[in-house]
Amino acid sequence: MINPAFTALTAEIAAYEAKLTPKEAAKYRIALLGRVVERTAGFSPDCEECRASDAQLKLVVDSLAKSPVTPQALKAYRKGIDRRVLHLRKVHKLASDGENTSLFIGIGVALGLAVSTLLNAQPVYSVAIGMAIGLVVGGAAGMWLDARARKQGRVI
Ligand SMILES: [Zn+2]
Repeated sequence: MINPAFTALTAEIAAYEAKLTPKEAAKYRIALLGRVVERTAGFSPDCEECRASDAQLKLVVDSLAKSPVTPQALKAYRKGIDRRVLHLRKVHKLASDGENTSLFIGIGVALGLAVSTLLNAQPVYSVAIGMAIGLVVGGAAGMWLDARARKQGRVI
């Protein structure tokens, strides 16, 4: 059975979301927080750690009530979300949206640079071309993986 505390949290988040400006909503990553709570609730019947995280999530959500949020409180708030995201990724094999794209762009560019350095014909051009190829190929691979994760319902 899903802990009713999570249902209350989802309602609380929706109420804040309605009040925040788009800029504030982005600052507080409120959509992500909502999804994290939903995912946590979904896993809570089978996962002790998810089940026990309702109090921690409540603290995170409640910090939105104190306006203006101090930089310190904002840091703690973000850390609270990150902690849950980490658990969902590590234990429940979920993915953050776009994580593969940024990862593979990094790998692609690094490989492109390495290969262009090895070839070393016209350094300036080959570095630029190597980076561009790495960006395109890495980006395409990452986007494909991200799309697959979304299709499989593994994105937080
Ligand atoms: Zn869990």
